[in-house]
Amino acid sequence: MSQLSKLYEGKAKILYATEDSENLLAYFKDDATAFNAQKRGTIQGKGEVNCTVSSVLFQYLEERGIPTHYLEQTAPNRMRVRAVKIFPLEVVVRNIAAGSLCKQTNLPLGRPIREPLVEFYYKNDDLGDPLLTRDRILLMELASVGQVEEMVALALQIDRYLTTFFEDCGITLVDFKIEFGLDARGQIRLADEISPDTCRLWDAAESDPQRRVMDKDRFRHDLGQVESTYRALRERVLQAAKIGNSSPSAD
Ligand code: UDP
Repeated sequence: MSQLSKLYEGKAKILYATEDSENLLAYFKDDATAFNAQKRGTIQGKGEVNCTVSSVLFQYLEERGIPTHYLEQTAPNRMRVRAVKIFPLEVVVRNIAAGSLCKQTNLPLGRPIREPLVEFYYKNDDLGDPLLTRDRILLMELASVGQVEEMVALALQIDRYLTTFFEDCGITLVDFKIEFGLDARGQIRLADEISPDTCRLWDAAESDPQRRVMDKDRFRHDLGQVESTYRALRERVLQAAKIGNSSPSAD
């Protein structure tokens, strides 16, 4: 497919228009940022890992009835996706306390969360992506009541499916961030990416708080072995997808 114009360049991806106005081409970059882009670097091979992991997970979720923007992986770091209008919201689901939840509360790192927590953050770098309430989302007209409810329900379903998938990889899904968009028919679809950049993933066989980290926290906190851990994660994900026996019962 021939590339047309660059539509958007973000911190981790570039989106190109294609000959089909309903499709876009997403190019996954090796560039890495953290702490609202105050820390910048490169993780060699990250684009290929994140594109492949996202492709596997989008397909896995589609097969279980979750609408996504995924169409096909056209190269190791390229994905053809449906064009959607992204809600300016980061939807975070938490199964174990970590990151900003620990910083903003007195919950200790690693505390299990019995009922997964769904949170919304405003995608706005100038404001530092603040935590939103449901009422603020409605006040700011970022989404309707029905759309917020649908995103919460989808986020919880996605959490269930991904938790099972990663368990089969020997990995604990601590938390993750997803984004949703509206397609041409007004349907909400899971968009963006699901990758070690956007999830906290802990090796279930490791109790050491640094050695267990298999996600972007290795880059954020200078834990070393970033590239090799990203590659190891891709191998585990591809292996689990090949076996393909993860199938939690539908609701
Ligand atoms: N996350 C993300 N992009 C962001 C903020 C968070 O992908 O801009 C992911 C992050 O990798 C983690 C989850 O969302 O898996 C929860 O992040 P948290 O709110 O704890 O913030 P952080 O500690 O990453 O600043």
